[in-house]
Amino acid sequence: MHIKGLKKNYNNISQSKIVEYNSSITLAVKFIILLCFVILYVILLFIQFKTTNGSLAAIISQVEVMISIYLEIKFNKQGYITAVLLNCTQCITSIIHIIFLNRLDVMPGFVTPICTIIIVSLLYNNINQLNDKIAEILSQKEKLNTLAYFDSLTGIPNRSMILRKMQFIINLSKLENMRFVLVFIDLDDFKKINDSLGHGTGDDFLLAVISRICSIINKNDLIGRIGGDEFALLIQRPLKNDEIIEYIESIKTSLNQPFQIGNFVLNTSASFGVSIFPDDGQTSDELLKNADMAMYKVKSSGKNDINFFNKELKELILKKIDLENNLRSAQDYNEIYVVFQPQYTTNTKKLRGFEALVRWQSPKLGLINPDTMIPIAEETGIIISLGEWILKNACIKFKEISSNLNADVILSVNISTIQFMKPTFVDMVKKVLSETDFDPCKLELEVTESVFISSAEYAARIFEKLKEIGIHIALDDFGTGYSSLSYLHKLPIDILKIDKSFIDELNHYNTRKQIVGDLINLMHKMNIAVVAEGVETEKQLNYLNEHNCDFIQGFLWGKPLSETELKTSISWFS
Ligand code: C2E
Ligand code: CA
Ligand code: CA
Repeated sequence: MHIKGLKKNYNNISQSKIVEYNSSITLAVKFIILLCFVILYVILLFIQFKTTNGSLAAIISQVEVMISIYLEIKFNKQGYITAVLLNCTQCITSIIHIIFLNRLDVMPGFVTPICTIIIVSLLYNNINQLNDKIAEILSQKEKLNTLAYFDSLTGIPNRSMILRKMQFIINLSKLENMRFVLVFIDLDDFKKINDSLGHGTGDDFLLAVISRICSIINKNDLIGRIGGDEFALLIQRPLKNDEIIEYIESIKTSLNQPFQIGNFVLNTSASFGVSIFPDDGQTSDELLKNADMAMYKVKSSGKNDINFFNKELKELILKKIDLENNLRSAQDYNEIYVVFQPQYTTNTKKLRGFEALVRWQSPKLGLINPDTMIPIAEETGIIISLGEWILKNACIKFKEISSNLNADVILSVNISTIQFMKPTFVDMVKKVLSETDFDPCKLELEVTESVFISSAEYAARIFEKLKEIGIHIALDDFGTGYSSLSYLHKLPIDILKIDKSFIDELNHYNTRKQIVGDLINLMHKMNIAVVAEGVETEKQLNYLNEHNCDFIQGFLWGKPLSETELKTSISWFS
């Protein structure tokens, strides 16, 4: 399905005028050449009839044949008609000479033109057939060109065409300084529409989007489809940066208006990345890549916005890609390991258990902390395999450590929301438990509030399934995000972990620290135990003790320890 009128003639008007002018010149030249040959033919004819020299007449006759054939080949239809007319004239003149002047010597001048007419007719026919073949080949070539340079769904230029057009302007700019702007447009969450409503609706939606963009953009700009839900807009007008923003803002606002696709009303938004020639790249590929990078930054910081490419951004993204690539291979190379931070009962300092925390010692990049590593693992989907690996390894190592301890302790493992939302999550946990022969009652999974945000009911169902096996659930980082108490009583949580930022307040004399005491109180009323995270000072410890905080975890009583460190200091924990 094509959008009518979208496929425009992208050659500019001055170019087509030049073509028109050139073709009128060729026509005039053709006519003059043809006329010259006609005059030459007539002169030769005149000499032929006047001369009594037989061999000269024969030579002239041969030249006339050649002129006829040349005219036919060179000028096709016009040449053919001219050759036939000239030969007919010669025939008639010969007949007149034979009949009225009784000149039998001009007989060849009668036979030769008839033969010539037959030859040029045969030739004309064959050449025409050949021309038809050539025309067919050319039209097929044009069709192939259309396929190669235009998008089959929308009919607008495709990636190759956009790149070619950019390269064309870049080449021109060597003669005269030129500046142009490339805007990379990526629809936000198009995949959701495709996945939930099917590819047919997805295609119709894309057509509606491109049609809306085309209705807004300036006629001198070129829009193309780079692939999927990605588009590129080429602006070759002298716009200042704030004018570019204003222009893109108008496209953005229009895309934010709902789309009626069949029976569905669909809402969308788009992320825009901008690169400018010549500052942001010297080749079309580089400009497209950099506009894409600028767009990528928008995607990772909330979508539906505009971003201009700059050199720092490039360094940042390349560093991230490097980190990403290294992380992919890190698991295979045993660069990742788990450390264990102890948790204690606040009033008796009895060991409650350990929280497993991941570490990545990269030979190339050094020690990468989880705050850098986990978000990348989440963005790339690596978290699914990495998370399972962490859980399994933590279980194996913890079993070894706890078998040397006299105390009954628990293992707490952090679970990313991406992992938690996977339909196979509970099965994965069960599989790890059975593979490691781990007692589920000794396992606690730490999740953050973000697991409730999309669906509290779904989270509650998963919690119930985990609790059926005997696993405990801890709500991590409480106080950093959503922090709504209203849903806590609806969810089967065993432990609430108060975030370090709240515990830090306990070092100061302010009213905010009262919140921690109140929170502990409230949790106890709801039968939820409390862990205070990041306890570093005696002052914090005293406050938490006074307010009956169940457990504490922090540098004051124990930093995260590696497996070997733990094994050497095991007696200290017993
Ligand atoms: P978290 O779950 O809140 O983990 C506690 C973090 O606080 C740990 O940082 C720990 O080393 C640090 N910490 C504990 N006590 C103190 C203290 O007294 N003072 C200070 N300054 N820091 C303290 P870490 O290991 O860098 O982990 C950071 C975050 O990365 C974790 O925060 C967690 O959200 C995430 N993370 C760590 N390991 C994993 C994992 O295996 N899986 C997942 N999904 N996330 C993990
Ligand atoms: Ca945690
Ligand atoms: Ca935490």
